[in-house]
Amino acid sequence: MAGVKADLHIHSTVSDGSMSPEEIVSAADQLQLKTIALTDHDTIEGIETARRAADGTDLNLINGVEITTAFADREIHLLAYAFNRSDSGLNEYLQDHNQARFKRAKVIVRRLNKKGLNLTIDEVYAEANTKNICRPHIASVLISKGYVASHKEAFIRYLNDEAIGKMEVFYHTIQDVVETVKQAGGIAVIAHPGRMFDTKELEEIIATGIDGIEAVHPSHSYKIQKELEKLAKRHNLLVTGGSDFHGKTKEYYRHFGTLGITSRKVGKIKRLAAYRKKSNSFV
Ligand code: AMP
Ligand code: MN
Ligand code: MN
Ligand code: MN
Repeated sequence: MAGVKADLHIHSTVSDGSMSPEEIVSAADQLQLKTIALTDHDTIEGIETARRAADGTDLNLINGVEITTAFADREIHLLAYAFNRSDSGLNEYLQDHNQARFKRAKVIVRRLNKKGLNLTIDEVYAEANTKNICRPHIASVLISKGYVASHKEAFIRYLNDEAIGKMEVFYHTIQDVVETVKQAGGIAVIAHPGRMFDTKELEEIIATGIDGIEAVHPSHSYKIQKELEKLAKRHNLLVTGGSDFHGKTKEYYRHFGTLGITSRKVGKIKRLAAYRKKSNSFV
Protein backbone atom coordinates (compact mmCIF):
# COMPACT_ATOMS: atom_id res chain seq x y z
CA MET A 1 0.00 0.00 0.00
CA ALA A 2 1.51 3.32 -1.00
CA GLY A 3 2.16 5.92 1.61
CA VAL A 4 2.16 3.56 4.58
CA LYS A 5 4.36 5.06 7.23
CA ALA A 6 2.73 4.03 10.48
CA ASP A 7 1.60 0.77 12.04
CA LEU A 8 -0.59 1.43 15.06
CA HIS A 9 -1.53 -2.15 15.94
CA ILE A 10 1.29 -4.40 17.18
CA HIS A 11 1.61 -7.07 19.90
CA SER A 12 4.79 -8.04 21.74
CA THR A 13 5.81 -10.72 24.24
CA VAL A 14 4.20 -8.78 27.11
CA SER A 15 0.87 -10.06 25.77
CA ASP A 16 0.39 -12.66 23.01
CA GLY A 17 3.04 -11.58 20.48
CA SER A 18 6.14 -13.66 19.85
CA MET A 19 8.68 -10.82 19.45
CA SER A 20 10.05 -8.66 22.26
CA PRO A 21 9.48 -4.87 22.19
CA GLU A 22 13.16 -4.42 21.22
CA GLU A 23 12.88 -6.88 18.32
CA ILE A 24 9.75 -5.11 17.09
CA VAL A 25 11.41 -1.69 17.19
CA SER A 26 14.39 -2.97 15.24
CA ALA A 27 12.19 -4.75 12.64
CA ALA A 28 9.96 -1.68 12.20
CA ASP A 29 12.99 0.54 11.77
CA GLN A 30 14.38 -1.79 9.10
CA LEU A 31 11.07 -1.67 7.25
CA GLN A 32 11.39 2.12 7.34
CA LEU A 33 8.19 2.71 9.22
CA LYS A 34 8.16 6.19 10.73
CA THR A 35 5.72 5.59 13.59
CA ILE A 36 4.57 2.54 15.50
CA ALA A 37 2.37 1.89 18.52
CA LEU A 38 2.71 -1.24 20.63
CA THR A 39 -0.86 -2.21 21.44
CA ASP A 40 -0.55 -5.19 23.74
CA HIS A 41 -3.70 -6.71 25.23
CA ASP A 42 -4.55 -4.82 28.45
CA THR A 43 -0.97 -3.93 29.33
CA ILE A 44 1.44 -1.06 28.70
CA GLU A 45 4.44 -2.89 30.15
CA GLY A 46 6.28 -3.11 26.82
CA ILE A 47 6.27 0.61 26.09
CA GLU A 48 9.18 1.66 28.29
CA THR A 49 11.49 -0.98 26.76
CA ALA A 50 10.36 -0.07 23.25
CA ARG A 51 11.00 3.62 23.90
CA ARG A 52 14.52 2.90 25.09
CA ALA A 53 15.17 0.72 22.04
CA ALA A 54 13.86 3.44 19.71
CA ASP A 55 16.19 6.06 21.18
CA GLY A 56 18.72 7.04 18.56
CA THR A 57 16.66 5.63 15.66
CA ASP A 58 14.32 7.53 13.31
CA LEU A 59 11.33 5.63 14.63
CA ASN A 60 8.61 7.48 16.56
CA LEU A 61 6.55 5.72 19.19
CA ILE A 62 2.98 6.51 20.18
CA ASN A 63 1.78 5.09 23.50
CA GLY A 64 -0.76 2.38 22.79
CA VAL A 65 -2.78 -0.47 24.30
CA GLU A 66 -5.59 -2.76 23.10
CA ILE A 67 -8.11 -2.87 25.94
CA THR A 68 -10.74 -5.60 26.15
CA THR A 69 -14.08 -4.09 27.14
CA ALA A 70 -17.59 -5.29 27.91
CA PHE A 71 -20.25 -4.32 25.39
CA ALA A 72 -23.54 -5.77 26.67
CA ASP A 73 -22.58 -9.44 27.13
CA ARG A 74 -19.75 -9.39 24.60
CA GLU A 75 -16.05 -8.64 24.70
CA ILE A 76 -14.94 -5.94 22.31
CA HIS A 77 -11.49 -4.50 21.73
CA LEU A 78 -10.77 -0.81 22.12
CA LEU A 79 -7.46 0.72 21.08
CA ALA A 80 -6.14 3.60 23.15
CA TYR A 81 -3.40 5.94 21.93
CA ALA A 82 -1.21 8.79 23.12
CA PHE A 83 -2.40 8.60 26.73
CA ASN A 84 -0.39 9.66 29.73
CA ARG A 85 1.34 6.43 30.77
CA SER A 86 1.45 7.31 34.47
CA ASP A 87 -2.27 8.08 34.73
CA SER A 88 -3.50 6.30 37.86
CA GLY A 89 -7.07 5.70 36.61
CA LEU A 90 -5.87 3.99 33.45
CA ASN A 91 -3.29 1.91 35.34
CA GLU A 92 -5.93 0.75 37.84
CA TYR A 93 -8.15 -0.37 34.99
CA LEU A 94 -5.31 -2.30 33.37
CA GLN A 95 -4.57 -4.00 36.71
CA ASP A 96 -8.25 -4.97 36.96
CA HIS A 97 -8.09 -6.40 33.45
CA ASN A 98 -4.97 -8.39 34.30
CA GLN A 99 -7.01 -10.01 37.10
CA ALA A 100 -10.00 -10.39 34.78
CA ARG A 101 -7.81 -12.30 32.32
CA PHE A 102 -6.63 -14.62 35.07
CA LYS A 103 -10.21 -15.34 36.23
CA ARG A 104 -11.36 -15.90 32.67
CA ALA A 105 -8.46 -18.27 31.96
CA LYS A 106 -9.40 -20.28 35.06
CA VAL A 107 -12.97 -20.67 33.80
CA ILE A 108 -11.74 -21.71 30.34
CA VAL A 109 -9.31 -24.29 31.81
CA ARG A 110 -12.10 -25.73 33.99
CA ARG A 111 -14.37 -26.06 30.98
CA LEU A 112 -11.64 -27.74 28.93
CA ASN A 113 -11.03 -30.12 31.84
CA LYS A 114 -14.73 -31.05 31.69
CA LYS A 115 -14.25 -31.90 28.02
CA GLY A 116 -11.56 -34.36 29.09
CA LEU A 117 -8.48 -32.23 28.36
CA ASN A 118 -5.80 -32.45 30.99
CA LEU A 119 -4.26 -29.02 31.66
CA THR A 120 -3.95 -26.69 34.66
CA ILE A 121 -4.09 -22.94 35.21
CA ASP A 122 -0.48 -23.09 36.49
CA GLU A 123 0.70 -24.49 33.17
CA VAL A 124 -1.11 -21.69 31.34
CA TYR A 125 0.29 -19.10 33.73
CA ALA A 126 3.81 -20.42 33.13
CA GLU A 127 3.25 -20.27 29.35
CA ALA A 128 2.14 -16.64 29.65
CA ASN A 129 5.39 -16.04 31.53
CA THR A 130 3.66 -14.03 34.30
CA LYS A 131 2.26 -11.58 31.76
CA ASN A 132 -1.37 -11.06 30.76
CA ILE A 133 -2.94 -14.43 30.00
CA CYS A 134 -4.46 -14.55 26.51
CA ARG A 135 -6.20 -17.43 24.75
CA PRO A 136 -3.13 -18.09 22.53
CA HIS A 137 -1.23 -19.04 25.72
CA ILE A 138 -3.88 -21.70 26.40
CA ALA A 139 -3.52 -22.77 22.76
CA SER A 140 0.24 -23.21 23.25
CA VAL A 141 -0.34 -25.49 26.24
CA LEU A 142 -2.80 -27.55 24.18
CA ILE A 143 -0.16 -27.86 21.44
CA SER A 144 2.59 -28.88 23.87
CA LYS A 145 0.30 -31.61 25.26
CA GLY A 146 -0.44 -32.91 21.79
CA TYR A 147 -4.16 -32.10 21.83
CA VAL A 148 -3.91 -29.87 18.74
CA ALA A 149 -1.31 -29.25 16.06
CA SER A 150 -1.58 -25.46 15.78
CA HIS A 151 -3.05 -22.30 17.25
CA LYS A 152 -5.61 -22.28 14.46
CA GLU A 153 -6.75 -25.78 15.32
CA ALA A 154 -6.96 -24.85 19.02
CA PHE A 155 -9.26 -21.93 18.17
CA ILE A 156 -11.38 -23.94 15.75
CA ARG A 157 -11.86 -26.87 18.14
CA TYR A 158 -11.69 -25.45 21.66
CA LEU A 159 -11.12 -21.73 22.11
CA ASN A 160 -13.92 -20.09 20.15
CA ASP A 161 -16.89 -18.55 21.98
CA GLU A 162 -19.20 -21.39 21.04
CA ALA A 163 -16.89 -24.14 22.28
CA ILE A 164 -16.05 -22.30 25.51
CA GLY A 165 -19.71 -21.47 26.13
CA LYS A 166 -21.31 -18.43 27.66
CA MET A 167 -19.39 -16.83 30.49
CA GLU A 168 -19.46 -13.75 32.62
CA VAL A 169 -17.59 -10.79 31.09
CA PHE A 170 -15.02 -9.74 33.69
CA TYR A 171 -13.86 -6.52 32.01
CA HIS A 172 -14.92 -2.88 32.49
CA THR A 173 -17.62 -1.58 30.14
CA ILE A 174 -16.73 0.21 26.93
CA GLN A 175 -18.33 3.43 28.26
CA ASP A 176 -16.14 3.39 31.37
CA VAL A 177 -13.00 2.52 29.42
CA VAL A 178 -13.59 5.31 26.88
CA GLU A 179 -14.04 7.76 29.75
CA THR A 180 -10.88 6.52 31.51
CA VAL A 181 -8.77 6.73 28.34
CA LYS A 182 -9.93 10.31 27.77
CA GLN A 183 -9.19 11.24 31.38
CA ALA A 184 -5.68 9.92 30.75
CA GLY A 185 -5.39 12.39 27.86
CA GLY A 186 -5.69 9.58 25.30
CA ILE A 187 -7.63 8.75 22.17
CA ALA A 188 -10.14 5.86 22.09
CA VAL A 189 -10.60 3.88 18.88
CA ILE A 190 -12.85 0.92 18.13
CA ALA A 191 -10.57 -1.94 16.99
CA HIS A 192 -11.21 -3.97 13.79
CA PRO A 193 -15.03 -3.57 13.77
CA GLY A 194 -15.23 -5.36 10.38
CA ARG A 195 -18.43 -7.34 10.16
CA MET A 196 -18.65 -7.83 13.93
CA PHE A 197 -21.47 -5.37 14.48
CA ASP A 198 -24.70 -4.40 12.76
CA THR A 199 -25.40 -0.73 12.00
CA LYS A 200 -27.34 -0.19 15.22
CA GLU A 201 -24.50 -1.62 17.33
CA LEU A 202 -21.92 0.50 15.52
CA GLU A 203 -24.01 3.57 16.24
CA GLU A 204 -24.20 2.56 19.92
CA ILE A 205 -20.43 2.16 20.03
CA ILE A 206 -19.92 5.56 18.40
CA ALA A 207 -22.32 7.06 20.97
CA THR A 208 -19.98 5.97 23.80
CA GLY A 209 -17.74 8.85 22.71
CA ILE A 210 -14.98 7.04 20.81
CA ASP A 211 -12.60 9.25 18.82
CA GLY A 212 -11.83 6.97 15.93
CA ILE A 213 -12.37 3.81 13.93
CA GLU A 214 -9.69 1.29 12.99
CA ALA A 215 -10.53 1.01 9.29
CA VAL A 216 -7.25 -0.55 8.14
CA HIS A 217 -6.83 -4.09 9.50
CA PRO A 218 -5.86 -7.47 7.98
CA SER A 219 -9.36 -8.85 8.68
CA HIS A 220 -10.99 -6.06 6.63
CA SER A 221 -11.57 -6.36 2.90
CA TYR A 222 -10.93 -3.23 0.87
CA LYS A 223 -14.71 -2.77 0.63
CA ILE A 224 -15.13 -2.89 4.41
CA GLN A 225 -12.21 -0.50 4.86
CA LYS A 226 -13.88 2.00 2.55
CA GLU A 227 -17.24 1.64 4.32
CA LEU A 228 -15.59 2.26 7.69
CA GLU A 229 -13.71 5.27 6.33
CA LYS A 230 -17.03 6.70 5.14
CA LEU A 231 -18.64 6.04 8.51
CA ALA A 232 -15.74 7.80 10.25
CA LYS A 233 -16.09 10.79 7.98
CA ARG A 234 -19.83 11.01 8.60
CA HIS A 235 -19.24 11.12 12.36
CA ASN A 236 -16.10 13.26 12.26
CA LEU A 237 -13.98 10.45 13.66
CA LEU A 238 -10.31 9.67 13.15
CA VAL A 239 -9.24 6.76 10.95
CA THR A 240 -6.50 4.48 12.26
CA GLY A 241 -4.95 1.20 11.18
CA GLY A 242 -2.23 -1.35 11.48
CA SER A 243 -1.17 -4.91 10.85
CA ASP A 244 -2.19 -6.50 14.20
CA PHE A 245 1.30 -7.96 14.10
CA HIS A 246 1.91 -10.82 16.54
CA GLY A 247 5.47 -11.57 15.38
CA LYS A 248 7.63 -14.11 13.62
CA THR A 249 5.22 -16.23 11.51
CA LYS A 250 4.77 -15.59 7.79
CA GLU A 251 1.07 -14.88 8.27
CA TYR A 252 1.94 -11.77 10.28
CA TYR A 253 4.98 -10.67 8.28
CA ARG A 254 2.82 -10.43 5.18
CA HIS A 255 1.22 -7.31 6.65
CA PHE A 256 4.03 -5.77 8.71
CA GLY A 257 5.36 -2.70 6.91
CA THR A 258 2.59 -2.84 4.30
CA LEU A 259 -0.63 -2.42 6.28
CA GLY A 260 -0.99 0.88 8.08
CA ILE A 261 -1.72 4.54 7.73
CA THR A 262 -0.07 7.71 6.45
CA SER A 263 1.90 10.16 8.59
CA ARG A 264 -0.83 12.71 7.91
CA LYS A 265 -3.36 10.55 9.78
CA VAL A 266 -0.86 10.09 12.61
CA GLY A 267 -0.59 13.88 12.82
CA LYS A 268 -4.36 14.16 13.32
CA ILE A 269 -4.24 11.62 16.16
CA LYS A 270 -1.39 13.47 17.85
CA ARG A 271 -3.10 16.83 17.52
CA LEU A 272 -6.34 15.60 19.09
CA ALA A 273 -4.38 13.97 21.94
CA ALA A 274 -2.41 17.17 22.57
CA TYR A 275 -5.64 19.17 22.62
CA ARG A 276 -7.24 16.69 25.02
CA LYS A 277 -4.33 16.88 27.47
CA LYS A 278 -4.50 20.65 27.41
CA SER A 279 -8.26 20.79 27.94
CA ASN A 280 -8.10 18.13 30.72
CA SER A 281 -5.68 20.33 32.62
CA PHE A 282 -8.22 23.17 32.70
CA VAL A 283 -11.04 21.21 34.35
P1 AMP B 1 -8.04 -13.08 24.23
O1 AMP B 1 -7.64 -11.65 24.25
O2 AMP B 1 -7.53 -13.85 25.39
O3 AMP B 1 -9.52 -13.26 23.98
O4 AMP B 1 -7.32 -13.70 22.97
C1 AMP B 1 -7.57 -13.11 21.73
C2 AMP B 1 -6.37 -13.30 20.82
O5 AMP B 1 -6.38 -14.62 20.32
C3 AMP B 1 -6.42 -12.41 19.60
O6 AMP B 1 -5.83 -11.17 19.85
C4 AMP B 1 -5.59 -13.19 18.61
O7 AMP B 1 -4.22 -12.93 18.82
C5 AMP B 1 -5.84 -14.63 19.00
N1 AMP B 1 -6.84 -15.29 18.13
C6 AMP B 1 -8.15 -15.03 18.08
N2 AMP B 1 -8.76 -15.84 17.19
C7 AMP B 1 -7.80 -16.64 16.68
C8 AMP B 1 -7.78 -17.70 15.72
N3 AMP B 1 -8.90 -18.11 15.11
N4 AMP B 1 -6.59 -18.29 15.44
C9 AMP B 1 -5.48 -17.90 16.06
N5 AMP B 1 -5.42 -16.90 16.97
C10 AMP B 1 -6.56 -16.28 17.28
MN1 MN C 1 -3.76 -11.07 20.17
MN1 MN D 1 -8.20 -7.37 18.74
MN1 MN E 1 -4.69 -6.91 18.34
